[in-house]
Amino acid sequence: MSTSANDNLNDWLRDAHAMEQQAETMLKAQAERLEHYPDLRARIVQHIEETRGQQSILDEILARRGVSNSVLKDLGGKLAAFGQGVGGMMTSDEVVKGAMAGYVFENLEIASYTSLIAAAKAVGDSATAASLEQILVQEKAMAAWLLEHLPQVTQAFLARSATPGVEAKV
Ligand code: MG
Ligand code: FE
Repeated sequence: MSTSANDNLNDWLRDAHAMEQQAETMLKAQAERLEHYPDLRARIVQHIEETRGQQSILDEILARRGVSNSVLKDLGGKLAAFGQGVGGMMTSDEVVKGAMAGYVFENLEIASYTSLIAAAKAVGDSATAASLEQILVQEKAMAAWLLEHLPQVTQAFLARSATPGVEAKV
């Protein structure tokens, strides 16, 4: 049995679409819960908008390639378990764990789009490769921001934690 490169690419594009739906769910949950970390919250809100734009780009790519974007496949997203692990996290150090998990998720997205771009180039679909490059730039920027601000988030959490009567976790 063999699977063509185009069929593999189409499957991976659908996986990416499911990943972006999962991303939106997780980011929204984080943004809604955050109260005391306005910089982190603002960057997450910005990335929710970017994520919706990424979904639109993937919709366009799938339509152009004649791929049906099955709702069933999306609902069965392979990353659901990961997302639940992050979204269901309500630990006393939630903001720190959430920022770390967000960084991990962005790097999963970076790996996914890097692989997808190589696959698009392999089948000669330069329009798809170019669109995916736009998304990759946004994922790299979000990952870089989260890593750069993790020390600040951690220190703000520690300071709040050590202060009586001040909530620290979100
Ligand atoms: Mg994304
Ligand atoms: Fe992202």
